[in-house]
Amino acid sequence: MIVNAYAAPSATEPLVPTTIERRDVGAQDVLIEIAYAGICHSDIHAARGEWGPISYPQVVGHEIVGVVTEVGSGVTKYAVGDRVGVGCMVNSCRECVNCKAGMENYCLKGNTQTYTSVDRDGTITQGGYSTHIVVDEDFVLRVPESIDYAAAAPLLCAGITTYSPLRHWNAGPGKKVAVVGMGGLGHMAVKIAHALGAEVTVLSQSLSKQEDGLRLGADHYYATADGVVFEEHANEFDLIINTVSAVIDMGAYLGLLALDGTLVNVGAPPEPLPIQVFTLFGNRRSFAGSGIGSIQETQEMLDFCAEHGIAPETELISADEINDAWERVLRSDVRYRFVIDAKTLVTA
Ligand code: NAP
Ligand code: ZN
Ligand code: ZN
Repeated sequence: MIVNAYAAPSATEPLVPTTIERRDVGAQDVLIEIAYAGICHSDIHAARGEWGPISYPQVVGHEIVGVVTEVGSGVTKYAVGDRVGVGCMVNSCRECVNCKAGMENYCLKGNTQTYTSVDRDGTITQGGYSTHIVVDEDFVLRVPESIDYAAAAPLLCAGITTYSPLRHWNAGPGKKVAVVGMGGLGHMAVKIAHALGAEVTVLSQSLSKQEDGLRLGADHYYATADGVVFEEHANEFDLIINTVSAVIDMGAYLGLLALDGTLVNVGAPPEPLPIQVFTLFGNRRSFAGSGIGSIQETQEMLDFCAEHGIAPETELISADEINDAWERVLRSDVRYRFVIDAKTLVTA
């Protein structure tokens, strides 16, 4: 099946309209007509080769919602007409200890990512900036009817990537949680941590988004630019979620952790983050990482968001606005997730 898409022709050129081929619907596959696809900062890191070389042309996008239009003969979980989502992975080895434990996101052989991975047929996976995708039913999520269709897309990455560490590190009543960076991931971390009952603080570069942060559920909002916050709030937080896409001074943020506090890094800058170990000795602090979430946990997150009326703040764009949207993401000028209307993906 030949479908319309937007692809990066190289690491340095703007994305262009193109067509790609989707595989035939296998026994375990569902064909999804994509309605909306979110723009994650990872799309930019990956397409521009910042995390390592990739092959081109490459279609990115791993925040996908759409409707099932065909199912394979062995499919049992989904039917034509179902409202579904696809996130950052489309398969895993299913045999390793982590896969067997239901944590495909930590597959020891490396899960098959929605884009830039070698698929089971040897081709490179192509992501959600396209009109259709074929995915094994085990890696498809059910999108609750009560979540606005276009707003649901960013939950598939930004939602699960923040929900997973917030749950794992027990964000909840009595816990002080700080969120560093209020972009796509950061604004979801604020909403989810607030819904979990934690006391939420945003640490943003400036106060330009303060009003929004407080409206989305933050109890406090501080600018990191003047540096005073690192003295006034030293030893305060139980959990810090760092969503920043660039290298920042980890030592300064680690100093904000209380006894046994943990700083979880989900931001993925290509360069190493230097850490002075003595900062970890004080308060017996932990520095951790977290990668998306499992399929089961992603479904749990979608249901949690439906139950709590949580949806991302989105700006709907057409395909010809993708390149401008990427530039705005790079300038931290996103409020708070761009979502592409797949109907506007027309052939070159
Ligand atoms: P985003 O929308 O661009 O948000 C990043 C935020 O970080 C910005 O809004 C900005 O917030 C802050 N920031 C950016 N540059 C900064 C700088 N130089 N210094 C200080 N703060 C800066 O990006 P996103 O889509 O949320 O993704 C964030 C990062 O998470 C990316 O690196 C992405 O690849 C990664 N990611 C990781 C996973 C995972 O599984 N671990 C999953 C998805 C994404 P303020 O304006 O509020 O300061
Ligand atoms: Zn993402
Ligand atoms: Zn595995």
